[in-house]
Amino acid sequence: LTQGLHRALQRHPGMAALTHVGDAGVHRQTHAQMADGIARQAAALARRGIARGDRVALLAPNSDQLVRAVLACWWLGAVACPLNIRWSTPELAHALHDSEASLLLVHESLQALAPADVPARAQMDALEDEGVALEPLPDTRTGGDALAAILYTGGTTGRSKGVMLSHANFWTASMARGAELNNAPDSVSLLVAPLFHVAGLGRLVGQLIVGGGCVTMAQFRPAAVIDAIEEHRIGDIVVVPSMLQSLLDDPSFTPGRVRSLTRIAFGAAPMPPDLLDRALAAWPHAEFFQAYGLTETAGAVCINLPSNHRPEARALGRLNSVGRAGLGAEIIVADESGRELPRGQVGEVLARGPMVMQGYWRNPEATAAALQGGWLRTGDAGRMLPDGHLFIVDRLKDMIISGGENVYCAEVEAALRSHPQVRQAAVIGVPDARWGEAVHAAVVLADDARADADELRAWCRERLAGYKCPRGISFLRELPLSAAGKVLKNVLRERLQA
Ligand code: ATP
Repeated sequence: LTQGLHRALQRHPGMAALTHVGDAGVHRQTHAQMADGIARQAAALARRGIARGDRVALLAPNSDQLVRAVLACWWLGAVACPLNIRWSTPELAHALHDSEASLLLVHESLQALAPADVPARAQMDALEDEGVALEPLPDTRTGGDALAAILYTGGTTGRSKGVMLSHANFWTASMARGAELNNAPDSVSLLVAPLFHVAGLGRLVGQLIVGGGCVTMAQFRPAAVIDAIEEHRIGDIVVVPSMLQSLLDDPSFTPGRVRSLTRIAFGAAPMPPDLLDRALAAWPHAEFFQAYGLTETAGAVCINLPSNHRPEARALGRLNSVGRAGLGAEIIVADESGRELPRGQVGEVLARGPMVMQGYWRNPEATAAALQGGWLRTGDAGRMLPDGHLFIVDRLKDMIISGGENVYCAEVEAALRSHPQVRQAAVIGVPDARWGEAVHAAVVLADDARADADELRAWCRERLAGYKCPRGISFLRELPLSAAGKVLKNVLRERLQA
């Protein structure tokens, strides 16, 4: 995965590679400076006894330091394990213990969060300083099936598992995206999705491969992100729908300030149709595309191309699709036994191809449950058009079965959100003596909205079959979101049932 860096060194060593926008100012590096720092940091890692295949855990907000630390691991052939910075100390301790990391590298801002009980620990900036005095290490040029990273799953569903991703997994996922979208190296990408999540890390890899530039920011603060887009003329961004919504809702947002953005990728969670319409209107000239993928696929396995987002393509009905299988990937919708269903029927989405993970780290049972007959069981319910365009209807585990009828949360959420006073909505199933499960909605209203539960129920009733309409509605000030910006339905369930 360091190959793109060597290519950039040959072609444009003096071009901006990495820019960090922080509270203390802006820090810029060219490809040549970045590569030199990485080679020295790799030497510092080697001096601490880190060798090929060793796991190095990384605890840092999105930053130039984290990018260099990941690359120093790859330069050396070590396995990067970036950890979720929203985790508590015991959750971090689980991942550290599970990955058997030889070293924990911590950003100075997170020293207090880092568990003490680790074999070795170092501060990121101190390790970089150590490298300054050392001979740069030659790149081991590790690639292929060697492990590049262990990414711990978001835990929206339960105990986090370590997803083993090889260099080839990342490479093929990024190449597939590049091939579909004709990635341009001169476009600067703003990395706002966390780098410990596949959406952020995968985008970084994609930019490295084409020798493009990246801008990092430690936190997603909408006003600061809008400033950064304007000031650094950001061309490319990957966002989770909730991020897009907070940009559009921010008082400082005007289309003029963000017009440099010509490529907007979104995914990782269902995109509410009303939000997509707003975004398309705010950036009439940008290329929008939707990506569908999992940590287990090192990035996108399906891509809905920009052409399907143009107004003239609406009649094709593909706007809210997650697209077709990307280059090298195969996607089918299958029944419980893994047999492909006729197009149009709802079943589980299965994925196959060189981007699919090697398995879960030291967890053969979970691996056997996820990888069956060469296919990855995604746990998502989907439906495919005859032309291969896929629609995600729900996560299987979120699907509600009420009175024997399947209720897909995303459909109910979209109906609620179409109400002008609803800002966000999340739907879950709650135990119900009569129906087995009942549909319950958590709603965040717009400022000074007055709609009550009866009004929202009546609104849904006009748009949905009776069994899909929420029986209970809770009004919340905000929804619990994961670090990647996804609604944490398990937390919501606990909160609403407490
Ligand atoms: P966990 O696996 O612990 O539940 P997580 O959900 O955060 O955590 P990820 O690998 O980050 O795990 O997310 C993958 C899931 O995100 C997919 O299975 C799918 O449900 C959802 N997803 C990804 N892209 C899209 C998309 N474009 N539209 C709808 N859902 C999506």
